[in-house]
Amino acid sequence: MKTKRFTAEEAAQAAEILTSGGLLGIPTETVYGLGANGLDPEAVARIFAAKGRPQDNPLILHIPSADWLERYCEHVPEAACALAAAYWPGPLTMILERKPMVPDVVTAGLDTVGMRCPSHPVCRAILTAAGVPVAAPSGNTSGRPSPTTMADMLEDMDGKIEGIVDGGPCSVGVESTIVDLTVRPPRLLRPGGITLEQLRAVLGEVAVDPAVTRLMGAGEQPRAPGMKYRHYAPKAPVTVVRGDPAESARCIRRRIGDRDGVICFDEFAALFEGHPVETIGPKDDQSEQARRVFDALRAFDGTDAAQIWAQCPDPVGIGLAVSNRLNKAAGFHIIDAEAEP
Ligand code: AMP
Ligand code: MG
Repeated sequence: MKTKRFTAEEAAQAAEILTSGGLLGIPTETVYGLGANGLDPEAVARIFAAKGRPQDNPLILHIPSADWLERYCEHVPEAACALAAAYWPGPLTMILERKPMVPDVVTAGLDTVGMRCPSHPVCRAILTAAGVPVAAPSGNTSGRPSPTTMADMLEDMDGKIEGIVDGGPCSVGVESTIVDLTVRPPRLLRPGGITLEQLRAVLGEVAVDPAVTRLMGAGEQPRAPGMKYRHYAPKAPVTVVRGDPAESARCIRRRIGDRDGVICFDEFAALFEGHPVETIGPKDDQSEQARRVFDALRAFDGTDAAQIWAQCPDPVGIGLAVSNRLNKAAGFHIIDAEAEP
């Protein structure tokens, strides 16, 4: 199959791929998504095939405005309206009770559905032109880092999808925040572009699912099916070094092997001359780190790095999402710089 490239101005034309049962690469403010008509079970099934995605990992339905929630969700709670008023359109997914019309293949048979209203203008033009809810996960091959540019997505999906729309590099760079509103208190399932602090400002108490900060044990059943899978990982194994940036840089410097690579804050790149190095932005600029973390992970697949050492921001603000992605890429293989001799 030849994958057709569309410019941002051709969004409406590209949307015809969705309404005719095809797969379309879609720019969003978070990452590029792999979209299909969310009401067409055959089209949605092709998403799983193109990504090599396990069947029990549900997708998110993308809608152009909050008033579409009632069409697909039962008993929409007041909390959903309050969150939508505060943060939609934007990088936030709400888990709500689904209506029977939502195909099982979208929800992986769950009685809940993930709903998001994105803010990227090109994505919004596609959703409006399509006139259907668009089911989409991130546009990577399952297990690989999510794509934040059209070129990243084509690395994984060229020839497997009918088209892709170029909306430029993603402004957030990590996937949407997922909050489950079907439990009391509401529960953060995945940290993302909307911070935990922002959720609490609207909802009050918000629980954090244990899978956000640690590896689930073999006998444990995570609340979101996607949380049990290995994620975001480059080919080489990753070790995250936590702690004060100057300390973690020194810790990596002491341990690094000749063929090892480093993901570090801009300030420390010079310490690792001679090694493959990917910087993710200044140590105090977490938004920039979010934009660059997936590209940094992806870049190592083009090198022969034996293993990768990564500095990591503190888990506050959007730093919680960045550290979650790095920790997952590392399979939660984490060491504390301060605890080192
Ligand atoms: P992706 O953005 O590629 O990670 O794919 C969508 C994410 O949303 C996955 O992590 C899913 O597990 C999660 N998700 C979608 N629907 C639900 C749901 N009903 N309950 C819990 N998590 C969900
Ligand atoms: Mg994904």
